[in-house]
Amino acid sequence: MSEDVFKKIVSHCKEYGFVFQSSEIYDGLSAVYDYGQMGVELKNNIKKYWWDSMVLLHENVVGIDSAIFMHPTIWKASGHVDAFNDPLIDNKDSKKRYRADVLIEEYMAKIDDKINKEVEKAAKRFGDSFDEAMFRQTNPRILENQAKRDEVHTRFAKALNENNLEELRQIIIDCEIVDPISGTRNWTDVRQFNLMFATEMGSTADGAMKVYLRPETAQGIFVNFLNVQKTGRMKIPFGIAQIGKAFRNEIVARQFIFRMREFEQMEMQFFVRPGEELEWFAKWKETRMKWHKALGYGDHKYRFHDHDKLAHYANAATDIEFEMPFGFKEVEGIHSRTDFDLSSHEQYSGKKLQYFDPELNKSYTPYVIETSIGVDRMFLSTMSAAYCEEELEGGESRVVLKLPAALAPIKLAVLPLIKKDGLPEKAQEIIDNLKFDFKCQYDEKDSIGKRYRRQDAIGTPYCVTVDHQSLEDNTVTIRYRDTMEQERVAIDKLADIIADKVSMKNLLKTI
Ligand code: ATP
Repeated sequence: MSEDVFKKIVSHCKEYGFVFQSSEIYDGLSAVYDYGQMGVELKNNIKKYWWDSMVLLHENVVGIDSAIFMHPTIWKASGHVDAFNDPLIDNKDSKKRYRADVLIEEYMAKIDDKINKEVEKAAKRFGDSFDEAMFRQTNPRILENQAKRDEVHTRFAKALNENNLEELRQIIIDCEIVDPISGTRNWTDVRQFNLMFATEMGSTADGAMKVYLRPETAQGIFVNFLNVQKTGRMKIPFGIAQIGKAFRNEIVARQFIFRMREFEQMEMQFFVRPGEELEWFAKWKETRMKWHKALGYGDHKYRFHDHDKLAHYANAATDIEFEMPFGFKEVEGIHSRTDFDLSSHEQYSGKKLQYFDPELNKSYTPYVIETSIGVDRMFLSTMSAAYCEEELEGGESRVVLKLPAALAPIKLAVLPLIKKDGLPEKAQEIIDNLKFDFKCQYDEKDSIGKRYRRQDAIGTPYCVTVDHQSLEDNTVTIRYRDTMEQERVAIDKLADIIADKVSMKNLLKTI
């Protein structure tokens, strides 16, 4: 896939009511987006898939919904006031701003690409007798590139860990990284930039309090840890899940809904005994990867990426990356957060946040495994996996969104063949019976072929056509989105046929 496909997905999202630029009639607000009539349904289905997989499938995971505003000291305790920074660098010629770490990561990704292309070429040349491991170990060009990459990687990881901004700049200079716009290497110094949005609560006359828009939902879970544990009589290990908005003043906000300033997270904090965290970390890594793969977007589109720089609170961390049209990118983070957050909140609040373990007969501060996924990034990966242009027989083509049926915004369209003879009424009757279970859409405008195309473009798995025969024998034709096959079925069988494929339950069972 390419940038070109990505552009098509972005315009498709707009054309069919999935995603609009925020405040569009005022020329938009950068990196803020609105979900349209189709987008909101897809997004809600993604959230339901996640929520149910957490709180239905795990008896020991419960949900909460905490407020966006929280006491400002929470962000001091969490480390966000002091450390939630990105290193930024400007190009003096283009006047564009970049994240210094991202420039270096992209540089390393380019070397990886070169190496992989070399391997692919050789694989083709040698055919079945190709020994990839051997080739990687011996080919001089690969060895040279790998050595270059390793050297940059070591310097980069060290600079990040030591917060060494000068060294980050030096790496950019030494690697001869140029600004993609101006093509020059005229860089400023690297500076830290805090990503939190601040606002004021209360009137200024009374001395307003500076509060932050939460940059993650996790802290709402930590500060409610004991409330939930006590009132829910939860026993360790247990988890608390939450879906909600988060806000970050991203330096470089590009790539559509991949990096937004207002976005939504689905986070789960799992509280465990100290010492058992790495075992749980491994379990959640596996569970979360299965959740992704169950959607059927293609297992090869996922990979784990272990972190070079562990956040100040983590003792293990990995990302689940998905192959977006612009390369493999993080969709979800899984972190072993130790007891950092709870201990820090104990310290700052002066309140005990410990758990008494009846089996061990002692109190301790639990350790935490976090799984954190962005709804919007999940939405983008879903659109990228589903978007498909197909050539049909007779020189025709169609754009079809091959969404998993359980996530599709509309489950079935009911289409009267013509607008008279009682067919619209019959169609409406079918909708009235099915609307309690499935989101249905009625469409009577244009030829049936055009109506099918419109439904393909929004990913509707089933189209039901009502014709004159339907009035006589209560049958309709049902058309399947992916195969475009049609069959005649009894109207009273529709509910079962559709329920089987679109059911969230069946999807959850495949995890
Ligand atoms: P990145 O390195 O891409 O900035 P991050 O490592 O800071 O992401 P986390 O703090 O781990 O991200 O947040 C957890 C998840 O929240 C991410 O995996 C991503 O799906 C989502 N997310 C984070 N920032 C954004 C954003 N600006 N826009 C949309 N989703 C985001």
